[in-house]
Amino acid sequence: MTKLRYLFLSAHLDDAIISCGDYISKLVQEGNRVTIATVFAGENPFKSLSMLARIIHKKFNLGSEVMSIRRSEDLTAAALLGADCVHLNIPECIYRRNPDFSPSYRKLEELFRADLSLEQPMIEEVIQQLSAAIHLAEYEQIYVPLGIGRHVDHLIVRHAFERWMDTIDYAYLYKIAYYEDLPYKHYQLDVNWKTDLANQFVVTAICLSRVHLIAKIRAIELYKSQQRLLWNSRFSMYKQMLKNTRTSADENYSNKDRKYRFNIYINKRDKIRMKAGEISD
Ligand SMILES: [Zn+2]
Repeated sequence: MTKLRYLFLSAHLDDAIISCGDYISKLVQEGNRVTIATVFAGENPFKSLSMLARIIHKKFNLGSEVMSIRRSEDLTAAALLGADCVHLNIPECIYRRNPDFSPSYRKLEELFRADLSLEQPMIEEVIQQLSAAIHLAEYEQIYVPLGIGRHVDHLIVRHAFERWMDTIDYAYLYKIAYYEDLPYKHYQLDVNWKTDLANQFVVTAICLSRVHLIAKIRAIELYKSQQRLLWNSRFSMYKQMLKNTRTSADENYSNKDRKYRFNIYINKRDKIRMKAGEISD
């Protein structure tokens, strides 16, 4: 059987596996090759840390080699699922600074209500690094975060990818799919995500089973530094991941085989044909 290749874009060193680790496990089990490309995997380019970065680092409990440890956590978690990784060299938002050296983000809340118009240079940088590192033609499908929760780095990844797509062959539009951002979907702070972020797509359900969920949970456990930041305890992570399978279940899946549905969001065919110039507005 010919191996098909699948690409998952991840804002940070954990997002793709927390959100889609179960689906990645299924793709690999079926004999496909999966690559996870993490955009904000670079080092802090400055010697000092902002107050916000210091607070977050304390939660990581990693000492000084924060990003190299996080990259190795990612490699280990991806290897457990049988996926490989690409790490781009761009610093995440807590390390970025304005031209006057002040931190771009000073408070945690600011990460979730950013003005994307101020992030245009970063979007350009992401397009440039993505297009240098990724050869789209190799992939059967490319999965992109919807941006649920509106974390600035997640939105930058989505916008950069879409801007990049606008400049190339429309044929790639058939390959693009979006995924729901976990754990943010379950914080339930982004009540309008369906209309704001997913209205233009149709939902397709992939059938997964308990074995895929277990593989994902085992992989998430390997992101040790992230657990204190994202969940109160390991148990609350288990509970949330289990809840996610229930909220996305329907009567056809919640049977004794413990199957559940994993939603992906794809462009409506009309929209693709419109972009291709086959039909007009
Ligand atoms: Zn993230």
